[in-house]
Amino acid sequence: MAICSSCGGSGIQRINDEQFRTCLDCLGLGVVATTDTGTEARLEQPLNPAINAAASSVAAR
Ligand SMILES: [Zn+2]
Repeated sequence: MAICSSCGGSGIQRINDEQFRTCLDCLGLGVVATTDTGTEARLEQPLNPAINAAASSVAAR
C-alpha cells in the first residue's frame, strides 16, 4: 500500500474552501494498492516452519 497521491493520505479531497468529498482514487482510505506485492507476499510466509514441526511431534506423543 502507498499513500494516495490524490488526497495526500487523508482520504478526502478538497473541492474548495467549504466543500470536501471522499477521494475516489483511494475510496477514502488514504492509501492505494500498489502493484508491488513483495511486502504483502512476504508477510504471508510462515514465520518459522520449525515451530510447526515441533508442535506436531509433541502432539504425536
Ligand atoms: Zn485518496
